[in-house]
Amino acid sequence: MSLIQRLSPEFRQRCEAIATEQRSLLRVRSFEPLPADTLAAKLGATLFTPDQVTNFEPEQVAVLLASDGWSGVIISDRPLWIVYNPHHAPARYESNLMHEIAHVLLNHQPVGFDPVTGIPKRKQNNEDEATYLGGCLQIPKRGLLWATQRKMLLPQIATHFGASEAMVQFRSNVTNVLVKC
Ligand SMILES: [Zn+2]
Repeated sequence: MSLIQRLSPEFRQRCEAIATEQRSLLRVRSFEPLPADTLAAKLGATLFTPDQVTNFEPEQVAVLLASDGWSGVIISDRPLWIVYNPHHAPARYESNLMHEIAHVLLNHQPVGFDPVTGIPKRKQNNEDEATYLGGCLQIPKRGLLWATQRKMLLPQIATHFGASEAMVQFRSNVTNVLVKC
């Protein structure tokens, strides 16, 4: 079952509403890019690379810095502290951070911790939800419609929103807004 099939239409609608709400709080319109750093700052988040976290063990830092298998992790809710993988490209950084922010906005709680990396484990359903909301935060449906009405092509839309081309394609698929390549 695909991500889209695992999430209800009601939940997906709610995500678009959350994305609209967060943008209006920041006075960022649906067609404007919303850098994840901007939203993170508004939520009071402090961002760290693994080596900047003083209470991580040196072995844990080494594992995290050497691994591509993680993107971001919330190590504290209050204050909100997010550790990100510094080796990922800018477009991936955007989606990684929006994913973590989505966990915060949806009030998801971890269900345990990976014994090696110390990364919180979450329910698959929570991961699906955060991935979906993260995409809405990056490229709201209304923003995608705006771009297609301006005849922007997929790579241009990706650049405009600071997103990966894969993310634009994903948003096109799930919103039924046809984007040309
Ligand atoms: Zn997650």
